[in-house]
Amino acid sequence: MIVLGVESTAHTASVGIVDESARVLGQAGDMYRPAAGGIHPREAANHHVETLPGIVRAALEAAHLRPSEVDAVAFAQGPGLGPCLRAGATVARTLALLWERPLVPVNHCVAHVEIARVLSGLEDPMLLYASGGNTQVIVYGAGRYRVLGETLDVGIGNFLDKLWIALGGTFPGGPALEAEARLGSELLALPYSVHGMDVAFSGMLTAALAFHRDGARRADIAYSVEATAYSMLTEITERALAHRQREEVVLGGGVACNQRLQGMVRTMAEGRGGHSFAPPRSLCVDNGSMIAWTGLLGHRAGLAVPVERSAVLPRQRTDQVPVPWRENGAATA
Ligand code: AMP
Ligand code: MG
Repeated sequence: MIVLGVESTAHTASVGIVDESARVLGQAGDMYRPAAGGIHPREAANHHVETLPGIVRAALEAAHLRPSEVDAVAFAQGPGLGPCLRAGATVARTLALLWERPLVPVNHCVAHVEIARVLSGLEDPMLLYASGGNTQVIVYGAGRYRVLGETLDVGIGNFLDKLWIALGGTFPGGPALEAEARLGSELLALPYSVHGMDVAFSGMLTAALAFHRDGARRADIAYSVEATAYSMLTEITERALAHRQREEVVLGGGVACNQRLQGMVRTMAEGRGGHSFAPPRSLCVDNGSMIAWTGLLGHRAGLAVPVERSAVLPRQRTDQVPVPWRENGAATA
């Protein structure tokens, strides 16, 4: 079985094509970059409308496939920005109708789990999902993926982007902040905001900006923000592991590409006698292949929907979606 997946929840328009062994046959994409400030949903959606037809063609070419060789079309149904989701869903519906193929809705967060799970070979890992809009610790339990902990205000990536722009940089802030942090050495005292298995970042943003106004070095701010924010994420992940008696962690989301965060989570997991795994960057950030792979799992479990029941769900929660492919223990490819 070969499935094509369309991702368009936020900045990234991406199409991936995978086979039954989760091999990525082709993937193409393009990211909307705002001229100034953060994401503008309508502008991002326009970007996706304009670029997705070419991206579909590029993914098919990369995979050396004809449309007739694609068995199903999957799309990210939610959560995400409404206009962006609709752009991708419209393309997926069009392809499904045109090619006369089943249409499979996919939850974006579940897709991050499933691609990391199959690539890692870990049976039942916990996911630390750290991206622009989302910050969650997710684990499977009783028929659903459950959110054990999450941000109480903004996603960590949005926080890093906002901070970097206020420090004079441009979007995306995370990678630039990572480079800047390597030049820092002084640990500034920032609010460490962990509440059980939840975290919050807005207090840290205010405090970091105050240090900036008072003349602190940008490198030290970057260094301290990374140290504090990633410690918070590592702590809630460890607490979740301890409570659920798990040993394995996978990472997903753009911020999870960060080497310092990956190192901290690895040290924590290995210190507990467990393992951690981060997918390669192209499959860790938002990508069409994870939608295609989760769509393949969903299609095999009978989750295809008619076009008229394929509305996008911008606020869809991870634990609202059934994951029937896990209920019988059929965990991997
Ligand atoms: P996503 O929402 O998963 O597409 O990820 C986008 C977010 O990841 C943006 O907020 C980026 O600033 C952030 N990001 C990307 N690479 C890194 C990195 N190396 N370190 C920290 N944040 C990153
Ligand atoms: Mg994501």
